[in-house]
Amino acid sequence: MKKFRIALIAHDNKKADMVVLAREFAPFLAQCTLCATGTTGGRLAAEVGLDVERMLSGPLGGDLQIGARLAVGEVDGIIFLRDPMTPQPHEPDINALVRACDVHDVPCATNLTTARLILKQWMAASA
Ligand code: PGA
Repeated sequence: MKKFRIALIAHDNKKADMVVLAREFAPFLAQCTLCATGTTGGRLAAEVGLDVERMLSGPLGGDLQIGARLAVGEVDGIIFLRDPMTPQPHEPDINALVRACDVHDVPCATNLTTARLILKQWMAASA
C-alpha cells in the first residue's frame, strides 16, 4: 500500500475546520506520513492524536519549508485551508507554495470540499 506524504496547513480562521476534517479522515491520515505548519500541527496532534511532523509556523517560514520539500518530490499533496477573507503577513510565501504545487503538478486542496474529494481519492488508491 502506498504511504501518502501529506502536508497540512490551516490559517487561523480555518483551524477548527482542519480539526473537523482530520477527525473525519483520522484512520486514513494515521497511515500517512504527515507534516504541518507549527500551530496547525500542534492542534492536529493534541486534538486528533495524529503523529505530525511540525515545521515552523506559517508566518515564520513553515510554508516555505513545506514548499522546499514538495519541490524535491517529498510531498504527495497539500491540504491548505486558506482564509480568503483575511490578509496574511506571509502572502508571498503562500503564493510561492501554491505556485510550487502547480509547477510540480502536486494536488493542493484549498477548501474543505476539495480536501474531502482528494482524501477520498487517496483512500481509495491506498486500499
Ligand atoms: P500555523 O501556520 O499552522 O503555524 O498557524 C499556518 C498559517 O497561518 O500560515
